[in-house]
Amino acid sequence: MRPIIPFVTRISAEEQATWHATFRARMPDFDVRPLADLSDADCRDAKVAIVANPEPAELRRLPSLVFVQSLWAGVERLVSELEDQPFAIVRMTDPQLAETMAEAVLTFVLYLHRDGPAYRAQQIRHVWSERPYRPARERRIGVLGLGNLGALAATRLVANGFPVEGWSRTPKAVAGVSCHSGEDGLDRVLSRSDIVVVLLPLTSGTRALLDARRLARLPSGAALINFARGPIVDTEALVAALDDGHLGHAVLDVFAREPLPADDPLWDHPGVTILPHVSAPTTPETATRLVAENLHRFFATGMIPEAVDRDRGY
Ligand code: NDP
Repeated sequence: MRPIIPFVTRISAEEQATWHATFRARMPDFDVRPLADLSDADCRDAKVAIVANPEPAELRRLPSLVFVQSLWAGVERLVSELEDQPFAIVRMTDPQLAETMAEAVLTFVLYLHRDGPAYRAQQIRHVWSERPYRPARERRIGVLGLGNLGALAATRLVANGFPVEGWSRTPKAVAGVSCHSGEDGLDRVLSRSDIVVVLLPLTSGTRALLDARRLARLPSGAALINFARGPIVDTEALVAALDDGHLGHAVLDVFAREPLPADDPLWDHPGVTILPHVSAPTTPETATRLVAENLHRFFATGMIPEAVDRDRGY
C-alpha cells in the first residue's frame, strides 16, 4: 500500500491543483492527500507531511510525524509556533529556487542601478532628461545572508561586474565576494552598500535587524531590496529614511502582513516598488523531484533529510 502523505497548505485551490497533478505525475509511489480528506486513522499514522505556507496548528492533528517537508524555503512560523513538537522541519532547498531568486535579485539590482525608479517618475511627469551613467564596477552591492539563495545571487552580481560584499552569521567564503560576519561586519557592509539586498531567514536574531540605526549606516541615496521576510526591516524606520531622502528607493517583495492591505500607505509611496511575494516561487517540477527523493530515502532507510536547527531558527 502507498504511504498516505498529508498535504497541509493555505495556498489557492488553483495552486493546490497544480501541486497535486505534479505529485501524481512525479511521486506515484505516494498517496498525497489534502489534510481535510484524511480519516482520524490516516492522521494518526502519517509519518511525513508536505506543507506549503500551512497554518502551523493544523499539524497538531498529526501526532506521529517524523518530519514535515516544506515546499517553501522560509519556515519561520513552523519553527516559532510549533516549538513543542518533536518532528524535524525540512526546508525547500531546490537549486532551481536559488536560480529563480538570483534572477530576481539581478533584475531589480539592474533596475535600480540603471535608475529605473527615477525614469519612471520622469515619465509620469513627461520629463525627457538624461541622468549621469555610473558603471557597474562603481555600484557597490551588499548581500545580507549568504545561504542557498544569497550565495548564488552574490555570485551572479559579481559576474555582472558589481563589487559585492556579503554578510552571514558565521564566516563564509564565496568566490569574488568580500565576506563578513558579526556586528562589525554588518556595519562595514551597510556603510559600503549603494544597494543592499536582504536574503536572511526571519529569526529572533534578524527580526527588525534593519532598524533606524542600521539604515542610517547606509550611504546617502542607497537603495534596499527585501526579498526575504517583511519583519526583518523596520517599516516605520524605512519609510522615515525614504521620506527624509537618506534612502533613494526600496523594492519590497515581502511584508509583515500579506497580502499587503489595499489601504497600506506603502502602495502609494513614490520611493517604493511593491511586488506580491513573487521573487522566488517554488517550481513544482524540480521541487517535487527533491521531495520524492527525500520521501523515498526516508521510507526505504528511515533517514531524515537535513533539517532546520530549531535553536538557530533556520
Ligand atoms: P539559508 O538558511 O540557506 O541561508 C541563510 C543565510 O542567512 C545564511 O548565510 C546564514 O548565515 C544567514 N543568517 C541567518 N541568521 C543570521 C544572523 N542572525 N546574522 C547574520 N546572518 C544570518 O536560507 P536561504 O538562502 O535558503 O533562504 C533565505 C530566506 O529567503 C528564507 O528564510 C526565506 O525567508 C526567504 N525566501 C523568500 C522567497 C521569496 O519569494 N520572497 C523565496 C524563498 C526564500 P550562516 O551561513 O552563517 O548560517
